[in-house]
Amino acid sequence: MIILKSKSEIALLREAGRIVARVHEAMREMIRPGVTTAELDAKAEAIIRASGAIPTFLGYPHSGRNDFPASICASINEELVHGIPSKQRWLEPGDIISIDVGATYQGWVGDSAWTYPVGTIDAASQQLLAATEGSLWAAIAQARPGNYLIDLGRAVEEHVNPRGFAVVREYTGHGVGRRMHEDPQVLNYVPQGASNGPRLKAGMTLAIEPMVNAGTWRTKVLADGWTVVTADGKRSAHFEHSIALTEGEAEVLTVL
Ligand code: MG
Ligand code: MG
Repeated sequence: MIILKSKSEIALLREAGRIVARVHEAMREMIRPGVTTAELDAKAEAIIRASGAIPTFLGYPHSGRNDFPASICASINEELVHGIPSKQRWLEPGDIISIDVGATYQGWVGDSAWTYPVGTIDAASQQLLAATEGSLWAAIAQARPGNYLIDLGRAVEEHVNPRGFAVVREYTGHGVGRRMHEDPQVLNYVPQGASNGPRLKAGMTLAIEPMVNAGTWRTKVLADGWTVVTADGKRSAHFEHSIALTEGEAEVLTVL
């Protein structure tokens, strides 16, 4: 069931989103060769707590796995999502790192991911990042009343495929509100024979998050039970904003 939010509920989601955006601003400044992903995680947690919020990811349960042990997901190069921060993992020049952050403020969740270059990255990685971010904005542009949910997935695919990259299918965006993962699932592609899904309405709040691979769309999970990597070891990028649908253009919630 898709839960529509009132204006006052969206105001709280906006506050949660702003806290997440503040974390991203700090991550952008900190990311450089030699920084560990544990240092990034500690900074993120400190900002979230100082803002009166709770790190949504910390202790997040998943059936058959240990609870997630950190406040951010830090996923480097061929790691796609759900990378676990570590004191043993240093950023290297030329890496790309996806930071995914969630903050719960007065019971409402903000969720946003961004992929950052570490120093100078090669041209192929630059194109991968640009294509993935572009597909996020293409999907957000379709998020308006009258369109269908599947129009978001179509927008991602139509942006990514001509650029020679592959949209991940096994992980999707989602509704966001009092829980991080609410209905509906927000696909980043159009499955064969798919229905249009529900019509979009003002008051829907969605986390749109295309994940795009340089090679195959297929993925696998590492032995730690969390880290998702590309099946062929090529690089992957991930961009996510939480948004609120209005009568016109969607409002991006995870911004300053
Ligand atoms: Mg996220
Ligand atoms: Mg999400």
